[in-house]
Amino acid sequence: MKKFEIPYMPINEETNKKFIDFFSKRKENIECIYTPSYIRDGINTRVEDGNFSHDFDEYLYLLNEVKKHFPIEILIQKNCSKEIIQKYYSLEFKRFTINDDTLAKQLKTKYDDIILTLSITRLLHHEDIFNLDLSCYDYIVLDYRYNRQISLLKELPKKYNYVLLVNSSCNYKDRTLCPLHWFDFKNYKDCKKLLKDSSKIYPLDLIYFDNYVHHYKLQGREYFSFENPDNFLRLEILSYLRNNIDFYDLK
Ligand SMILES: [Zn+2]
Repeated sequence: MKKFEIPYMPINEETNKKFIDFFSKRKENIECIYTPSYIRDGINTRVEDGNFSHDFDEYLYLLNEVKKHFPIEILIQKNCSKEIIQKYYSLEFKRFTINDDTLAKQLKTKYDDIILTLSITRLLHHEDIFNLDLSCYDYIVLDYRYNRQISLLKELPKKYNYVLLVNSSCNYKDRTLCPLHWFDFKNYKDCKKLLKDSSKIYPLDLIYFDNYVHHYKLQGREYFSFENPDNFLRLEILSYLRNNIDFYDLK
């Protein structure tokens, strides 16, 4: 079974404890925990909707608690810079998701042990993956269209490690919709389409994709709740980690 990237928001100590407790039992299926950078350190998708910690020291404390148990990946999807990465690197964070190839090349030259993922917000075209030098990235999160077209996935060069974001209901056909909802939560409902155009891959179907990807990514950090045991995202993530399609029955 492939591993998963799990969404996380630093909110408060109580939520942190529940998060660590919940996922510690499923550690062997977790590739890393990903979280947005501190709110003033870069622009990230939909952080304004989470109960995000507003104090940097508190943010860092919560993150370090999670880091004792899991590898952490920091997202900085817009307005990233060498200085911002340097700040997190000096605080012992070595894994980042960004979407700037020039910056990625500079960072790979400067830091031997940095791990870089190309964000889905980069919206790569199929030809880009053949024509651009993306070797500065350890992982590439692919556009949603690959979630529904295994034939395209099979064509991709084998030299890169690919990641698919599998639990989104985003439309896989219209590439103009997602950038709107990614950076503005109010547009999300416009992006979700009829199920026939959904990019969602259900847990039992992941087996068809396993040979072509390094691991999977699960989205939804803004929806995660431990206050409610019936929280949809909590049940959904559990179903992926168990490779169990019947997540509606889990509760
Ligand atoms: Zn979308």
